[in-house]
Amino acid sequence: MKLLVVSTPLGPLGSGLGGGVEITLNSLVAGLLDRGHSITVLAAEGSSLGPSCQRAELWLRSGRPQLSSQHADREADVVMPADGLLPQFWRAVLEQASSGRFEAVVNLAYDWLPFWLTPTLALPVFHLVSMGSVNAAMDGVIAQVAAWDQRRLAFHTATQAADFDLPGPPVVVGNGFDLDAYGLCLEPDALLGWVGRVAPEKGLEDAAAAAMQLGRRLAVWGLVEDRAYAAAVEASVPAGTLDWRGFLATDQLQAELGRCQALLNTPKWNEAYGNVVVEAMACGVPVVAYRRGGPGELVQPGLNGWLVEPDDTTALAEAVCRVDGIDRRRCRAWVEQEASRAVFAERLEGWIERGLQICR
Ligand code: UDP
Repeated sequence: MKLLVVSTPLGPLGSGLGGGVEITLNSLVAGLLDRGHSITVLAAEGSSLGPSCQRAELWLRSGRPQLSSQHADREADVVMPADGLLPQFWRAVLEQASSGRFEAVVNLAYDWLPFWLTPTLALPVFHLVSMGSVNAAMDGVIAQVAAWDQRRLAFHTATQAADFDLPGPPVVVGNGFDLDAYGLCLEPDALLGWVGRVAPEKGLEDAAAAAMQLGRRLAVWGLVEDRAYAAAVEASVPAGTLDWRGFLATDQLQAELGRCQALLNTPKWNEAYGNVVVEAMACGVPVVAYRRGGPGELVQPGLNGWLVEPDDTTALAEAVCRVDGIDRRRCRAWVEQEASRAVFAERLEGWIERGLQICR
């Protein structure tokens, strides 16, 4: 297939502003290239693709970044800067609608405009929905596409998909990772880790509280999106509990993350997937998470981590004491089986081909 993949309008690929979508896009592109498809990526000026995506063509557009839907109020109207990246991207897609150059568009942006355009576009658009429900306008437009042709939608997990009004069972594609990029570490340090955008929906304060209860240090990796929130979390625990390590590129992140005895994952929202959960497991790190959202599907209790009731920091701390019973090799093996780039690409290909009614 000849596919046009549209990136997030939150910022350039490689900046971290796109959160998990950045790694998803690289994995999707590399995986589909490996399966023989031809890929063009439309992304923000300043973007770069990973080394495995070099056979993809990269089209860059400039414009003001979109405000992330997860930071809008639930009832907020749709807001789009006139000189924004989002309208630039979709102008470029519209220009291709009758060029014959592409068979389909794959959209990774969680924004109203591409969903709204979908039923009217001559070029088939497929949406990999990257978040659960955060905003009524998005819920409405996703439901409209689903009612029109649900084959155009795929989700990362069943728990995420359950947030939306869908007429049929969802297409669930999970996510995929380049396992060569993650080294298995069998001899960790006595270190607990937490990875994510530092923002309220990620619930860092709960992991910090569990670390405090255990008298342990918690290493924190990720982009500080909300400085006031980060300062409030820092102030909620004794000085030195949190070890702020900043935002690192994947090769550095995995090397440091692999040294952890356990990863704590404590989202307050219906996390669509939880890339960091799987990236930790790929390094052999067991994950202690809330039974909520995507991590509630990814963590197999006793095999690759433990699940506890949401918002219960005491249970979180208790579960951390049980991670030594988890075989770090089995954490990695679970990822190899369920979330490799190849497995993900196969699922994506099946989804798009079924939507295009291509029969092989
Ligand atoms: N990440 C990173 N460097 C860091 C911390 C995080 O590259 O120092 C990446 C991480 O690898 C993951 C992404 O940020 O792929 C966060 O994705 P996730 O699905 O966990 O959450 P999101 O930010 O999309 O809500």
